[in-house]
Amino acid sequence: MKPFTYVMPTTLAEAGEAAKKPDTIVKGAGLDLVDRMKERLQTPSQIVNLLPLKTEMAGIAVENGELRIGALTTLTQLEQHPALANRALEGLRHSAASTATPQVRHRATVAGNLLQFTRCWYVRSEAHRCLHGGRGPTCLAMTGDNRYHSVLGWMDCVRVHPSNLAPPLLALGAEYSTVLDGKVRRRKLSDLFPSEPRAQLAEHTLEHGEIVTALHIPVQPEGARSSYCESREKLSHDWATTACAVRLVMSGDTIAAADVVLGAVSPVPRPRPDAAKVLVGKKPSDDLWKKVAELAYAGAVPLSHNAYKLTVGKAIVREALEQAAR
Ligand SMILES: Cc1cc2nc3c(=O)[nH]c(=O)nc-3n(C[C@H](O)[C@H](O)[C@H](O)COP(=O)(O)OP(=O)(O)OC[C@H]3O[C@@H](n4cnc5c(N)ncnc54)[C@H](O)[C@@H]3O)c2cc1C
Repeated sequence: MKPFTYVMPTTLAEAGEAAKKPDTIVKGAGLDLVDRMKERLQTPSQIVNLLPLKTEMAGIAVENGELRIGALTTLTQLEQHPALANRALEGLRHSAASTATPQVRHRATVAGNLLQFTRCWYVRSEAHRCLHGGRGPTCLAMTGDNRYHSVLGWMDCVRVHPSNLAPPLLALGAEYSTVLDGKVRRRKLSDLFPSEPRAQLAEHTLEHGEIVTALHIPVQPEGARSSYCESREKLSHDWATTACAVRLVMSGDTIAAADVVLGAVSPVPRPRPDAAKVLVGKKPSDDLWKKVAELAYAGAVPLSHNAYKLTVGKAIVREALEQAAR
């Protein structure tokens, strides 16, 4: 590993100042970052450890009705907090609970989960001359072993977004706050991901030195329920091969509003508004779930080794809808 300066800030302002320096990167628990550094895929000369700022940047609180989740909140805290023990937020709670192992969840932070680097084995190995890694002219997965890669919305790189938390947070209409140059900004979570996920762009839209401080979940309407389902190759800790988060707002036995977001099948988490629209005004039924699952994958184009994602992914959409409506 290349030697680096290690900054342990005592205030967010200090962290922000240090994070702006060239060739500097911020660290949550370091589960993903340190892994990449060991592989020499990331070689910063300075690291700003955010963990000393847990007092101000971790924890879950209800503020003006909305839920504020500090960026350094761990996945275990998310899974176990009483504020998430309700049907409206069940999708988010379950997505945290089904991530990795208890040990990983105990350390992993919410911001780090959203900002973790793709698991594509070509970009994560310095031996491969991959376009997204800046080491080669093309996306090697496009023609190589692409069993875990995209089927939707890819451009010149078929990586997938690996975060479990992103789909349910998007389905709940979450926003995120950041600080840069002392200025606080708050945006829709969808803005954190590039609208055109090209190989040579970063996987998120943060500016250099910008620190995510919190996530915000708006008050959910009465009758809101959410779910999160994923498929994976191993039953134990593994990243998803397909995932779906659903939010339904029920009015009696009719769906009054709906959101459907896919994960693990595209370079960014994918809201599927056309599929969600079909749910509105309808009563839950297997036929409706089938129709919505087809629409959620409308336009999907499988690669040479991942056509299974369409079959499995649609089953996961149906399961997520069934769970939310139950
Ligand atoms: C065995 C194993 C299985 C796993 N399975 C899953 C899975 O099924 N699903 C899933 O979603 N994840 C999975 N993970 C990934 C894990 O959830 C992430 O690695 C973890 O959440 C990253 O959090 P961290 O705090 O360690 O982030 P770090 O490694 O510290 O940071 C990750 C990235 O985020 C940036 N960053 C971190 N915090 C901030 C901030 N506040 N502001 C700006 N930038 C920031 C860092 O600069 C870095 O680029 C697995 C990990 C392991 C080891």
